[in-house]
Amino acid sequence: MAERTLQTEAQFLKGVGPKIAPAFAKLGLYTVGDVLYHLPRRYEDRTQIPPIRLVRPGQHVTIRGRLRSVGARPTRGGMVILKAIVEDPTGCVALTWFNQPWIKRKLENYDGEIVAYGLAKDADFGIEISSPEYELIEDEEDAADFARIVPVYPSTEGLPQKTVRRAARAAIEYYLSLVEDPMPPSLLKQERLRPLAWCLREIHQPSSDANRAEARQRLVFEEFLYLQLSLAMKRAETHQELGIAFPIEALKQGAMLEPPMAIETAKPNRRKAAVVVKEERSTHLFEPELAAMRDGVPLWDQIHQMLPFELTGAQRRVIEEIWGDMAVPHPMNRLVQGDVGSGKTAVAACAMLAAVRAGYQTALMAPTEILAEQHFANIHGLFEHLGILVALLIGKQNSKERKRALALVESGEAKVIIGTHAVIQEEVKFDRLGLAVIDEQHRFGVLQRAALREKGLGNPDVLVMTATPIPRTLTMTLYGDLDLSVIDEMPPGRKPIKTHAKSTMDRDSVYEGVRKLVTEGRQAYFVCPMVSESEKMQAQAAEDLHYRLENGVFHDLKIGLLHGQMKGKDKEAVMEQFRRHELDILVSTTVIEVGVDVPNSSVMVIEDANRFGLSQLHQLRGRVGRGSAQSYCILISDARNADARERMDVMVETTDGFRIAEADLRIRGPGEMAGTAQSGNRDFKIADLVQDGKLLETARQAALRIVDTDPHLIRPENRGLRIKVQERRSQTAVITVS
Ligand code: ADP
Ligand code: MG
Repeated sequence: MAERTLQTEAQFLKGVGPKIAPAFAKLGLYTVGDVLYHLPRRYEDRTQIPPIRLVRPGQHVTIRGRLRSVGARPTRGGMVILKAIVEDPTGCVALTWFNQPWIKRKLENYDGEIVAYGLAKDADFGIEISSPEYELIEDEEDAADFARIVPVYPSTEGLPQKTVRRAARAAIEYYLSLVEDPMPPSLLKQERLRPLAWCLREIHQPSSDANRAEARQRLVFEEFLYLQLSLAMKRAETHQELGIAFPIEALKQGAMLEPPMAIETAKPNRRKAAVVVKEERSTHLFEPELAAMRDGVPLWDQIHQMLPFELTGAQRRVIEEIWGDMAVPHPMNRLVQGDVGSGKTAVAACAMLAAVRAGYQTALMAPTEILAEQHFANIHGLFEHLGILVALLIGKQNSKERKRALALVESGEAKVIIGTHAVIQEEVKFDRLGLAVIDEQHRFGVLQRAALREKGLGNPDVLVMTATPIPRTLTMTLYGDLDLSVIDEMPPGRKPIKTHAKSTMDRDSVYEGVRKLVTEGRQAYFVCPMVSESEKMQAQAAEDLHYRLENGVFHDLKIGLLHGQMKGKDKEAVMEQFRRHELDILVSTTVIEVGVDVPNSSVMVIEDANRFGLSQLHQLRGRVGRGSAQSYCILISDARNADARERMDVMVETTDGFRIAEADLRIRGPGEMAGTAQSGNRDFKIADLVQDGKLLETARQAALRIVDTDPHLIRPENRGLRIKVQERRSQTAVITVS
């Protein structure tokens, strides 16, 4: 045999061979190294196999005994139930499987001992374990798997646990010494982690629970570390790139500014930014309507005049953080996280105002047309008096409107352009884009700066805004290459929304409550049940509910309908009617989830609420509670299972987006959250974002420290890390906007 390496084919492992190798390949295990990193899914503590007599229903147990009988019978539903009775000297249990004839064939010709693992339940004639995992004890080596903690590996058909276990054992025995630890000893020491080889042995062949936990800890840390290193390096790279240095200090002092400096001449000195501007003149001239702003109004004063309310402390802090980024001659890459209603739009407007005053254009990209139009209405309302031209660009405009808007942007007359993400990315030619704001409401994946640059848009500052429902752990994996600002304070005077969970039997009283509020002059949302992923069926559900309300209890009220299948013009018309209070009730699908802002609406009824994710419910609920009136959210659901109840309880108990997001993550798992193609645990082999949040945090800190001193990981001791990060980067596809 050739020299042993971790690249040696898995078939050369003892107990594998060319016949079984294809089954390993099915699991993605081609080499010995793959087998070493094929980690157990769970463990069975076979030091603790109880006598069958002591097994109680509700326990997950491993039992061991002799097969007494095997029988199969068909059910009325056309299934076949296989039942095997296993006994030990103290008693017997039934193992049952549905529709698995091959198990029957296997068990029928066997009369040795069997081990089985599963959930014990009470059945007609004693204890039953249905669909257990099981193994036959055929030889001494199997017997060796007893009286110890036994790993259970992810497996596939035709690959018994035993075989995987044997391969893993051989890999440990003959190849473990070849494993090199990519983490430098200094890091291990600092983080109090065990060497890799030790950990792999303990993971495959635990000598104790404590050791196994310690081994896992290191492997999880390591997994997080590579991700965080690659994000930190990306972040560091962005900070190195040349970008625009907005003369923020000068603007704050109300200085009269000359045209913006050229990007290439930017100097990395924040203090000197204003001076640099004066020295380096570009050929771009201010448009006449901007002249009004050159009379020296300090930026903050201008903002006070512009906004109809006082900013919260959190908003002011975040604005300063953003301006701080804008002032340095490197591209900003910042995420603003703030719960629904925390006032992100005003923050964005302040950032955009600074960009415009510095002579640049700025774009705001929204996830939906409704939201784009709303942002347009808001921002246009604010900027109009300052003589700043705001252009709107959305898919439904006719070609004349669109041409005009595009021309205004290209000529530089339009200083602000608002549109849906797709439209802005596709066809806009900017004269001088300085700042791109992405309002993503967790609808998009992470926007790659590269995508902007590819469009020839230069190297603008990028600000991403997102409504909270992303727990911190996920933020760090999804957005770890961004700097983070959190708006952690709500505008004053808001009354927390009162949320009630109701069943369909309470519907009459719910409708009565809605009617009372409408009589008092409030407006209401009804969100129709989630019937399907299909927009068409969803529209149908909304139409049904609309019909039911309009021809039933609320026949005397004005009820509008909004769903994704409507034409843009019709959607807009309905929204406008609702905004003007020409409608009392708006029946809608989740299209209103994002951003819709009608402060007079103070009650939302969500049908079949258990069908929605928590974060989605939170988003939906955020449509009310925007005015000064007490607002309500009624969750109608008949689901009685524990999960559904827990979810409704969380919604009733808290309006804190962070807590809801954490709960969502815990109950649903991260795969469903954040709506991106790559979010969550699928990225990790061992780590669990829910369970391992603390380790993620420490790994992030460690990564930042390492990148700080060695940004390209070129120091000899970081060589192993560099290789791992490169591997990771080549595997991870670029996340694009969905
Ligand atoms: P978000 O996008 O964060 O969900 P918005 O920017 O839509 O929130 O703001 C929600 C509402 O609160 C809007 O009606 C906005 O005008 C208002 N608002 C924002 N900031 C303040 C503030 N500091 N004081 C009072 N009202 C505010
Ligand atoms: Mg918003």
